[in-house]
Amino acid sequence: MVFQSKRMGQVPPYLFADINKKKAAMIQSGIDVIDLGIGDPDLPPPSHIVEKLAEELQDPKNLKYPSFIGCAEFRQAVADFYKRHYDVELDPETEVLALIGSKEGIAHIVPTLIDPGDYVLIPDPSYPVYRMATLLANGRYYEMPLLKENNFEPDFSQIPADIIEHSKLMFLNYPGNPTAATVELEFFEQAVAFSKEHQIPIAHDSAYHMVTFGDYKAPSILQVDGAKDSVVEFGSLSKTYSMTGFRIGYVVGNKAIIKALADLKGNTDTGQFTPIQKAAAFALNSDQSCITKYNQVYAERMAVALEGLASIGINVDPPKGSFFIWAPVPENYTSTEFVTKVLEKAGVILSSGNAFGPSGEGYFRMSLSVPSDRLFEAIKRIKQNLQVVNQ
Ligand SMILES: *Cc1c(COP(=O)(O)O)cnc(C)c1O
Repeated sequence: MVFQSKRMGQVPPYLFADINKKKAAMIQSGIDVIDLGIGDPDLPPPSHIVEKLAEELQDPKNLKYPSFIGCAEFRQAVADFYKRHYDVELDPETEVLALIGSKEGIAHIVPTLIDPGDYVLIPDPSYPVYRMATLLANGRYYEMPLLKENNFEPDFSQIPADIIEHSKLMFLNYPGNPTAATVELEFFEQAVAFSKEHQIPIAHDSAYHMVTFGDYKAPSILQVDGAKDSVVEFGSLSKTYSMTGFRIGYVVGNKAIIKALADLKGNTDTGQFTPIQKAAAFALNSDQSCITKYNQVYAERMAVALEGLASIGINVDPPKGSFFIWAPVPENYTSTEFVTKVLEKAGVILSSGNAFGPSGEGYFRMSLSVPSDRLFEAIKRIKQNLQVVNQ
């Protein structure tokens, strides 16, 4: 007997479930696997944040059911962060909502805004949650191809009119996963204009907004005048402060969307554990030099990886944000063939580009999730065990 809804039948297991099984089997048989597949770096969160969490655990008031819109300190800290960083004003009561990691909010916003059969416009390639949440809500998705020649930005003019008519939500994500693409505010201005013209709300996923290199600063879509009329922005402490396990994020922007999402969440979860929210507020309010340090580490790893890839004929423009490299697979390989061969011959896990959508075919994603010497070793093994040099 199979106990499963038709809805679940459409949803494949989470992207990494399969790879994790293969990895475990290889490790079991004594192979030193280097995992550049996951987006969960090895860097620990700053100790001042961990200490704050331990301290907040001691207060019995914090151990009761949390406020389901998020504790006042956390919402205020997010609003202050937006003012400081982006000069964007947010009302912490109505325009900020705490999430159990931004993934939770991204998944829940879909049934908040669409009915069965409605379309969601999603970037292709992109974070698989946009697609899966749409399927779980019995919606349909339209994939907006992200092409290198367009700086991995969707071309809104290519979306068919009948799709636009039935679309109730658009996802965007910059700095992008998996493409590592970054944009300037001008792109968000175009996106907001499109959103207003067609009355399609935008959910911008800014998970990597603080993971940037050199002089580049990632803009917020809420910096566009009037964006709050139809836009929300998801944010996360996971990548910024290496707090992936804490499960804390937020959504900010349009009041009506935030209220609807809060109503849905009020009936499904009851918010994140208060000590975690308070530690997150502390992270946002205290010394930000840890971010500079993490970004320096990623920049060094990026340089090592880009140089190594170039030495095997794979050339990539240096990304300005995220901790990913989105690179073309060598000639005569499909994405799946290449990552399978790299895993089997070199013991290195990469993500296959097509796992992020059909336009990802021909690419692989490398995550800077391990120290430079391991990245170096990974590329050395690929060089020694596969014939990949393009020249
Ligand atoms: C990591 C990631 C998230 C989810 O982060 P949380 O830990 O759930 O806050 C969301 N979007 C993208 C693109 C990501 O890579």
